Amino acid sequence: MMAFPMNSKLRLSNSQSQHKLEKTYHIYTNELAEIVYTIIMPELPEVETVVRGLRKPLIGHTIHSMWYDWENTIHSPYAAEFSARIVGQTVKAVNRRAKYILIELDTDVLLVHLKMTGRLYVADVDEVQHADKWVHVRFGLDDDKQLRFSDSRKFGKVYLTDDTEKLLGHLGPEPLSDDFTLEVFRERLSKRNKQMKALLLDQTFVAGLGNIYADEALFRAGIHPTTKVEQLTDDDIVLLHQTIQDALNAGIQHEGASINWYRKPDGTKGNSQDHFYVYGKDGTPCQVCGTVINKIRVAQRGTHYCPNCQPERLL
Ligand SMILES: [Zn+2]
Repeated sequence: MMAFPMNSKLRLSNSQSQHKLEKTYHIYTNELAEIVYTIIMPELPEVETVVRGLRKPLIGHTIHSMWYDWENTIHSPYAAEFSARIVGQTVKAVNRRAKYILIELDTDVLLVHLKMTGRLYVADVDEVQHADKWVHVRFGLDDDKQLRFSDSRKFGKVYLTDDTEKLLGHLGPEPLSDDFTLEVFRERLSKRNKQMKALLLDQTFVAGLGNIYADEALFRAGIHPTTKVEQLTDDDIVLLHQTIQDALNAGIQHEGASINWYRKPDGTKGNSQDHFYVYGKDGTPCQVCGTVINKIRVAQRGTHYCPNCQPERLL
């Protein structure tokens, strides 16, 4: 996910330093866990909503300048090359792969990953928006507008590449594409034996799901989050294949979940959070059976489920 402040040379040569580093590492991971816990990260429906909102203001427009004040946001190539290469290119299309935004240009693709607090939007050159205080990259457009990348936590990244496969080739299938057939799903499941919650979060298994929509998909399929692949019946597999798509489509229909950070490119909130069955509903009655929704930790993530609709499976 990200580099921790570890120095392997020190670690090997000095046990005192090792102790100190372990302490730092421990504090850092705790802080990180807290951040991950409190900030709801954009998933496929949120990123898809951003993509849909950017098509109109971007397609057909040429990038004529680039400004940045935080070089680490620019993943690759180096900022100077990035800037020289992108200027003069026209936006042909705006698409999504997993949780990445793909702005297709004449010869390159501008890739953006929002990570935790990224916001991507187009504004008039002299327009001031609330999210501007965290803007670290701006692309000037030919119509006196700017594409702005705002990112308070600074974990988001922009990439410029003519080979998206190199960056995205490791990702699993798009769950809403025609390629994600029941046969493909079944075949991929047969090669794994993780707990289902952990597996749905694994971007190499299927791309785009995160903590919210994994919980929602499992609820809709009546599958307890700790269920292992080998415990699934064929009916479970058929149902889960459908509910992954249903949960994501519901998220898109309601334009993403604005629980705290995420906003649409026009600055307004999505409503997906008003339509959840289990995510964030711990302590409240299940909408289907009335049993109190429970929250546990699975794969280091807060996991919400209904103990009655999703009974624990015993081998
Ligand atoms: Zn229930």
